[in-house]
Amino acid sequence: MSPKVLIIEDEEKIARFIELELGYEGYTTTKAFDGRTGLELAETGQFDLVLLDVMLPQLSGMEVLRRIRRTTSVPIIMLTARDSVMDKVSGLDSGASDYITKPFAIEELLARIRNALRKTMPEDAGVLSASGLLLDAGRRTVTMLGKPIDLTKREFDLLHFLLKNKGMVISRETLLENVWGFDFSGETNAVDVYVRFLRGKIDEVFNIKFIHTVRGVGYVIKDEK
Ligand code: CA
Repeated sequence: MSPKVLIIEDEEKIARFIELELGYEGYTTTKAFDGRTGLELAETGQFDLVLLDVMLPQLSGMEVLRRIRRTTSVPIIMLTARDSVMDKVSGLDSGASDYITKPFAIEELLARIRNALRKTMPEDAGVLSASGLLLDAGRRTVTMLGKPIDLTKREFDLLHFLLKNKGMVISRETLLENVWGFDFSGETNAVDVYVRFLRGKIDEVFNIKFIHTVRGVGYVIKDEK
């Protein structure tokens, strides 16, 4: 069954764009152009995920978020136009699962939606693969062409996140948030350091190009067949 996504966004162009893109990905969507309608729809409990704009007429996104949280634990991704730490922190404090700053790349939004849904849906324990590498999320093992690869917890989590989003370029910021947690106090080059560790154990040992750098954007694992 396709996941049902509620889009609460008063900018109709953005709402339609998201609806179209999610439709291509197999999601079923419903749109609401103001906070009150959005809240009423969310309270029906029929959605698997809510995309919630912060700046909304009638009821603000923050207020909608607080009220949705009284009745349901549905994953909520906040769409914020302002890249202020305050918004993010108060959103996450009020129970948002994640946030994304507008304007955003649709791939980024799709990655976050998948990630938010994964936390509520059980498919997380599956086996992921790319170019002969197998990652068993349940057993927490990694092999390349049958040979085991020993990874630290952080290396494993980083590889896991990149594999879950195979084929998509993931920014350092997204990796930091999802692998290191919502904590920007660390060094942003932690990602580069850990990618280097992974390459040391995968790319160099097996003499392949496994983790690709996209200059100025981030990293991607492609399935080379
Ligand atoms: Ca708005």
